[in-house]
Amino acid sequence: MTNLPYFVSLEEALEICCQTKPAVESEIVNLDDAHGRILAQDLASLVNDPPFDNSAMDGFAVRYEDTRSPPTDLKIIATIQASGQEDDVLVSKGEAARIMTGAPMPDGADAILQVELCETDGDNVRLLQEGMKHFIRYKGENMTKDQIALNIGAHLTPSRVGLCATMGHEKIPVVKRLKVAIISTGDELKQPGEELARGEIYESNSFGIAGLVKWLGHEPVRMQCVDDTLDALRISLNEAANTCDLILTSGGVSMGEWDLVRKIMEEEGDLHFWRIKLRPGSPPLFGTWNNCPIFGLPGNPVSSHVVFRMLVAPWLRDATSADGPKEARTTARLGTDVKSTQDCLTLRRVSLETTSTGLVAHQKVHQGSGNLASIAWSDGFVVLQPTCTKQAGDVVDVIIL
Ligand code: AMP
Ligand code: MG
Repeated sequence: MTNLPYFVSLEEALEICCQTKPAVESEIVNLDDAHGRILAQDLASLVNDPPFDNSAMDGFAVRYEDTRSPPTDLKIIATIQASGQEDDVLVSKGEAARIMTGAPMPDGADAILQVELCETDGDNVRLLQEGMKHFIRYKGENMTKDQIALNIGAHLTPSRVGLCATMGHEKIPVVKRLKVAIISTGDELKQPGEELARGEIYESNSFGIAGLVKWLGHEPVRMQCVDDTLDALRISLNEAANTCDLILTSGGVSMGEWDLVRKIMEEEGDLHFWRIKLRPGSPPLFGTWNNCPIFGLPGNPVSSHVVFRMLVAPWLRDATSADGPKEARTTARLGTDVKSTQDCLTLRRVSLETTSTGLVAHQKVHQGSGNLASIAWSDGFVVLQPTCTKQAGDVVDVIIL
């Protein structure tokens, strides 16, 4: 115990926990099931995109040379639809082909004029301007066959799932969702829907944390709440380690007499650090229980949320080489003073306002670590280094939620 890293910086904490990695496997899924997953291999395109030269506009395909002194009268020799079934269309001098967006370019044509700039009269068309070469989308100009367009670890956002389809992949290899056990501890906790007796509160952490686990593309397993006894905790941790890839507990990691997660990890687990220089969220611990990685998150709802975003999420992304999802970071001008702490990286919850002179951050809500509404009603965290209290008007770093 004497050498246990204690009250470490967030960076040190991350470095320590990233030395312990969960077993990560991959599986093949249909594109319909790929949203939010993490790509398990580099993905090369099976085709050129686009696969053939085509028109970017509804209009007429022409020979540019013919159109240099508008207006130009040309003879319409064919109509080419996006399915491009009309073969062997050849546009010769003095001719034009009516063409739809996405339809293959006919031979001979090297420019397009959009339909709005053309007047038709039976089989003839008058072009009011020169043809435009940039309205041709050339074969392979977006992506070429065999090009790796998405790398291992790519978080599959909607546009990336669409890109997999553009590349011709029906199924793709993704990281198997990690099963994440969530165990809330505390004699005072009741399930929403139950009656509260004196001294009791509703258990909220497991629900919020389950949402964060899903956000990262993994599978939360909300286990039964555990009373504050070592025996109940031991049974629950054993079951979680047997059935899941990661354990997240909430509560019981502070200095108190009943902080049994810390106690059981000290006595029976393998503890890698305890407490970090982060506020809210200084109490957490990390280690392994029966070889299963375990984060002991604080019980205070804001603290557990913050520790998940700042520590558990980066650890999960590192474990799967995932490039997302993650919060956007930016800077903003302060509309109110915000206080740092003496020794910790401090996150204050703020509302963000877009103004003509840029983003402005206002600290509006009570910042207590028990006040979950302070996150739910906010747009972001202002990030303050230790002792660096800031005043209204100062520019600060912001994490957007
Ligand atoms: P603890 O870390 O166990 O001392 O808990 C710190 C504070 O968080 C106490 O006020 C607890 O009642 C509260 N708390 C602990 N666990 C939860 C939970 N799962 N949901 C909501 N509040 C909790
Ligand atoms: Mg407790």
